Amino acid sequence: MAAVAEGGRCPLLAAARGAYEAAFGGSAAVAAWAPGRVNLIGEHTDYNDGFVLPMALQLGTVLVGSPTRDGTVSILTTAPGADEPHRVQFPAPTLSHPLSPGQPHWANYVKGVIQHYRGGPVPGFNAVIASDVPLGGGLSSSASLEVATYTFLQQLCPDDGDLVAKALACQQAEHTFASMPCGIMDQFISVMGKESHALLIDCRSLDAVPVPLCDANLAVLITNSNVRHALSGSEYPTRRRQCQEAAAALGRSSLRDVTMAELEGGHGASVGSRHCGVCCRVYMCVCAASRSRLGEEVYRRARHVVGEIERTARAAQALQDGDYVTFGMLMVESHNSLRDDYAVSCPELDQLVAAALEVDGVYGSRMTGGGFGGCTVTLLVAEAAERAQQHIQEKYSGTATFYITKPSDGAKVLPL
Ligand code: ADP
Ligand code: MG
Repeated sequence: MAAVAEGGRCPLLAAARGAYEAAFGGSAAVAAWAPGRVNLIGEHTDYNDGFVLPMALQLGTVLVGSPTRDGTVSILTTAPGADEPHRVQFPAPTLSHPLSPGQPHWANYVKGVIQHYRGGPVPGFNAVIASDVPLGGGLSSSASLEVATYTFLQQLCPDDGDLVAKALACQQAEHTFASMPCGIMDQFISVMGKESHALLIDCRSLDAVPVPLCDANLAVLITNSNVRHALSGSEYPTRRRQCQEAAAALGRSSLRDVTMAELEGGHGASVGSRHCGVCCRVYMCVCAASRSRLGEEVYRRARHVVGEIERTARAAQALQDGDYVTFGMLMVESHNSLRDDYAVSCPELDQLVAAALEVDGVYGSRMTGGGFGGCTVTLLVAEAAERAQQHIQEKYSGTATFYITKPSDGAKVLPL
């Protein structure tokens, strides 16, 4: 059986400080940490103004460093999975010389945050990055790196402390410097995570409601498939575009405003005063014609998103009520919808979910994150955790890595 990896800030901090001394000489003056996340339910809903229900992990990214006087930024990552070179150097940005993305790719996440930082001007600094979030595993190492960087910068040159604006700046960094048009979930939970709670986030209003997740008889098991198919980068923008297309065709600004009844053929659900010319003589309606009007593929994408937004709200209520059976059933529905309608699962994730569901004491299991590899998340009774890992590994064709983790607080400054 694969080992259970335990998250912990202290060993990570010690590793980062050691690497800093070796690379730059002297001691780091400032340290910041920000968590990765696992999304319990609400996948591909954040960029559709919908609900998500993530929790911050005990796994995260540490940045340690010190300001310098020469206006140069030097950064080293200790992550073996990052592209080469692992050490970069560039001038701190000025109004006339802003930063721009380049190679290596990993440094774009840091550069983007420096460029979008709301305090400043950012001085030169030396820093080391260390992380125990798997890179590209669907646990949001990217947001964890962005938010850790932002929190680090807040120590060098404070901003106004607005937490929502912090998450939005980190999201902008990922959009503009890493070319990933992500939603707000990852950065939001990395900033706002709350110990012993998942967070129901309304990605439209950015209101967040903590939902207790601290039952000692319950465990959250993350299983990393340790595969990532090449599709993951290119398919994401395609899904985003299809969702916008569906919303526009239905006369709405986002899929958040479309109900399943409308999508599935609630005849006469008017969305405007135009004649649809297909099935309804008076109003443009979202009835059976929506399927042919959107086209089968876009219709299915929309069906996932609309269903997932409803499921997520119901799941949060079930968790609040301690109704883990209902929560687990909704997780399975979510997985099936991601697999069949949104088409972002893969055989490895399907295998992991199927194996988890065979174990006594498992409430539910689903792929989590963008898809095409990465991780599954399983909700189960705590005493079943050991046998679940054993069974999943036995059934899985690859090598899985397991994490049992509790909901953590969001980003913080670490005392040195
Ligand atoms: P995920 O966020 O699910 O882990 P992404 O593809 O969004 O996957 O982000 C992974 C990328 O983020 C890595 O390939 C790397 O470029 C960057 N990254 C994350 N953590 C680190 C780190 N500790 N050091 C360097 N780069 C990192
Ligand atoms: Mg990411």
